[in-house]
Amino acid sequence: MNSFEGPEFGVGDFVLLDNINIDEFMKNLKLRFDKNKIYTYIGEVVVSVNPYKQLDIYGQEYVRQYKGREIFERPPHIFAIAESAYKVMKRQVKDSCIVISGESGSGKTEASKIILKYISEVTNLSGKQDIEKVKNILLQSNNILECFGNARTNRNDNSSRFGKYMDIAFDFKGDPVGGRLVNYLLEKSRVVYQQKGERNFHSFYYLLYGASESELNEYNLKASDFKKYSFINQGGDKISNGMDDKQNFRLVNEAMKISNFDKSLIKTIWSIVASVVHLGNLKFESNERDLNNNPVNGSKHSEAKLTDECLKEIKIVSKLLKLDEKDLIKALTTRLIASGSRELVTTHHSVLEANYARDALAKALYEQLFSFIFMKINEILDVKNTVHATGLKETVIGILDIYGFEIFDTNGFEQFCINYCNEKLQQLFIELVLKQEQEEYQRENINWQHIDYFNNKIICDLVELPHKGIIAILDEASYNVGKINDEVCLEHMSKQLKDHKHFSSRDTNLGDKSLAHKIEFKINHYAGDVKYNIKGFIDKNKDSLYQDFKRLLYNSKDSNLKLMWPEGAQSQHEITKRPMTVATRFKNSIIGLVQNLSTKDPFYVRCIKPNETKTPTNFDYEKVKSQVFYLGLIENVRVRRAGFAYRLTYEKFLQRYKCICSKTWPNPRSGLPKDNVNLIIREFRFDNDVKNGLTKIFIKSPKTVFELENKRAE
Ligand code: ATP
Ligand code: MG
Repeated sequence: MNSFEGPEFGVGDFVLLDNINIDEFMKNLKLRFDKNKIYTYIGEVVVSVNPYKQLDIYGQEYVRQYKGREIFERPPHIFAIAESAYKVMKRQVKDSCIVISGESGSGKTEASKIILKYISEVTNLSGKQDIEKVKNILLQSNNILECFGNARTNRNDNSSRFGKYMDIAFDFKGDPVGGRLVNYLLEKSRVVYQQKGERNFHSFYYLLYGASESELNEYNLKASDFKKYSFINQGGDKISNGMDDKQNFRLVNEAMKISNFDKSLIKTIWSIVASVVHLGNLKFESNERDLNNNPVNGSKHSEAKLTDECLKEIKIVSKLLKLDEKDLIKALTTRLIASGSRELVTTHHSVLEANYARDALAKALYEQLFSFIFMKINEILDVKNTVHATGLKETVIGILDIYGFEIFDTNGFEQFCINYCNEKLQQLFIELVLKQEQEEYQRENINWQHIDYFNNKIICDLVELPHKGIIAILDEASYNVGKINDEVCLEHMSKQLKDHKHFSSRDTNLGDKSLAHKIEFKINHYAGDVKYNIKGFIDKNKDSLYQDFKRLLYNSKDSNLKLMWPEGAQSQHEITKRPMTVATRFKNSIIGLVQNLSTKDPFYVRCIKPNETKTPTNFDYEKVKSQVFYLGLIENVRVRRAGFAYRLTYEKFLQRYKCICSKTWPNPRSGLPKDNVNLIIREFRFDNDVKNGLTKIFIKSPKTVFELENKRAE
């Protein structure tokens, strides 16, 4: 890479730094950023700094430069990583994956789209129609998912509020024949609550500002009524920030058609979105005259009833969701519960409970819709459905675009889940990079100095161990309905985890005075300390939607909506006592993800956000530094440098470099490829930088590779 970029651009691989420390690292990163060199390697990891401007580096000309090349042959580029993952998949017929991480706004989703675009450009050269269709759906699916799963936040105008994993399946020729998407933890609280300056999910505004007058009439919506819609107006007046809602509404509908969503489904989808807007305007008041006995605990409370003004609203919601109006009102204001003797009794909600129920219904409707959209896209991308299905196992490239480590002023249940996920991915990284490296050295009979590295398994255990971990303790509290609140749950944690080195609260042995009593606990993550506020943990973990709602939606006359709510078919008595909690479901999905990734050849894209102002030239030194730290990049360079940067089989090495040495060019001497390779090595005095394995030559410094490449270019 130095042969292609002059010294004025710093080093293209951090391994080449003279000294590995944060200052040198930052100096190099900034130097490159200032010169629009946004990509830099650490071996096969690419560090990417969001340029916040369009760079002309992703066109056809660039695709050509990277296609079929090795990583070290061209200047650092994300295309090179995509190409490497593709090569592994195609040449070695091995699954590979690209893990993209970084904080909100650092460029993960853009990176995943660039990778997808590259793969799309280099495949199906013969232009087969069915493969073109698969490629198109893969690309279009982004438009759909971003519409329903992305939102404008204060950090990013197009922030993904869910984690996404995507497998692209290839046939034996290396052409995409299908795919599979997995969705992780949608931030559904946004459906009912947005901070100042933020928006609800894009879909709401696309519909409101994109649909025609007559369409809007069908949904009983009016763009000019925006200020009245309380579920989508909380961010303030300035809801559109250059984002063309109208245009995007058209694009999403187009994308849904291309993805074989039929007309009736598209109608259901927008009806659900519209119904959520109307749900937001339902208000309850207490029916003062009816002070009733609660049949379960005998307490008295006033019953909630809908205010008169919103009777119109409830009609609209019932119509949009094809529900019986009376049933909807009943589900919002009462609840059927099984009392001790298995008999069912109806209890009335208080105003507070009815508000809670309304919000829960809105969130659940939207979340289920989002999952259903994933399912639909998966159906159409299912390899079994494509003409190319051969019965053979397809090879895949997985792309993971998932939330990075989060440390805010207040961190809640969501941050806890997200940071646990990052802890798991870090562990995988350690295992793959270190363990697999060591295993290869052993296989090849190479001596390697073991390098010390913090193994974060202890933190993963703290969170996930059965019976003992934080999730287990939280689950126990969550099942104890009504008896244990957040504070008591934290007490239990403190008691059980008091000796854990990575956990602290006011009440643990180490008694951290900086934490609020009974409210906060701290986890010492691999990336640093994070204080969590326990408030809301139990509620978010339980995430219970009353069975009444499930039954209501299952009984909808809209067949698509009915399909989204199969659990509604269960009767109250059938319901299992202990439905899986959110944290446990998330834990299981992340464990599954990590297992899946660990069977693949991994490549990494580490994204960095240069500033908080979304501006192209500003490199906020301190902000970037903390990300370099959280992403563990310095450690990464250390490990990489301790090992061998590159390895090639003797045959491949000879094939590539025989031309640079008179002893091997034009014809290598008789003898093994290994002997000939060593003739070249000795000729250029690289002896000290290489080791001979059984089948491969191992090269320690990328410098050597660049010099070899330079000589080849001459
Ligand atoms: P989140 O976690 O919030 O989803 P993210 O890491 O996915 O954030 P992106 O949405 O990919 O962040 O990027 C944020 C914005 O930064 C983009 O909308 C785009 O304007 C800009 N951006 C990111 N990467 C690039 C790039 N390679 N070239 C030009 N602009 C970019
Ligand atoms: Mg994103």
